[in-house]
Amino acid sequence: MADLFEILDQFPRAKLIDGPTPLGRLDRLSAHLDIDLWIKRDDLTGLGAGGNKIRQLEFYFGDALSKGADTILITGAVQSNYVRAAAAVAAKLGLGSVLQLESRVPGMGARYQSSGNVFLSQLLGAEHMYFAEGEDESGADAALHEKAEMLRAEGKVPYVIPLGLNNKPLGALGYVRAAREILKQRADFDAVVVASGSGATHGGLLTGLRALGATMSVYGICVRRDASQQSARLQTVVRKISELLGETAELSDGDVLTWDGALAPGYGQIGEPMKQGLKMMAEYEGLFLDPVYTAKAFAGVPGLIQDGQIQPGMRVLFIHTGGVPALFAYQDELN
Ligand SMILES: *Cc1c(COP(=O)(O)O)cnc(C)c1O
Repeated sequence: MADLFEILDQFPRAKLIDGPTPLGRLDRLSAHLDIDLWIKRDDLTGLGAGGNKIRQLEFYFGDALSKGADTILITGAVQSNYVRAAAAVAAKLGLGSVLQLESRVPGMGARYQSSGNVFLSQLLGAEHMYFAEGEDESGADAALHEKAEMLRAEGKVPYVIPLGLNNKPLGALGYVRAAREILKQRADFDAVVVASGSGATHGGLLTGLRALGATMSVYGICVRRDASQQSARLQTVVRKISELLGETAELSDGDVLTWDGALAPGYGQIGEPMKQGLKMMAEYEGLFLDPVYTAKAFAGVPGLIQDGQIQPGMRVLFIHTGGVPALFAYQDELN
């Protein structure tokens, strides 16, 4: 299985992060929740307000640069951290960026359309386009490929960062690598808790941890689909990672764990457990989470304690995957 990392290290990668992100203990929350709680600060990956997407983009931009691309195209929700991070990386590397924004969240006010990540990606000089449907990954990819053809006709060299599961999960490789980084910092966790959206972060971490022999539970907290749909998606993501690396990760059926107790009423929508998570992390630790991903993911910690899956005294690692700019876009709805 060490082979898996040898293969991984041969993929082209644009180096965007200086050194490991901090990993530290949350003392006051540990006392409050009666567990030994730690945090991996992947909100601090540096470039363009950081977050987990910078790790994923190291591999997409590595691939794009190796193909001589000068413009990247990418899809996300209106308040997507992914497209904002991609615009930042493109700026840093001197590429153009086209961001396709999808309507995924109903009933949001004016700030949602213009503040937070939308505002930041405008500052980064990105071009915006729009896609109406929020649950049509292959349709969104097709629309980007159409736009890419138009750019090609103008003499550009476009590169599409795809959404659909039928593509190579290059972004997940960033979290296979992150598993190695985490285990070097501290290896003796009983459980890891992380947001599970596309599944690239969750699937990459799970693959990397198991490849290195770590047996801790990895809980993917659902932010987009219910637990059974997300578990099915994860099986596919993990299989695609193995195919990409040409190595079968030794995962058993019980390895894919999901929890959806903070998902309602749906992707990007405000629910009570999320609000509690946001407040708890701010008031006990002075750290900000975001309403779409990390506050829901963190709500999974007390949720899994309540369900008895995390027991008193366990050593738990929460992955802070970033997203804080979106807080400002949700200000009216949260107040
Ligand atoms: C995208 C995102 C996630 C989810 O990551 P996936 O790899 O898509 O599952 C979690 N947290 C934040 C802040 C994100 O932007």
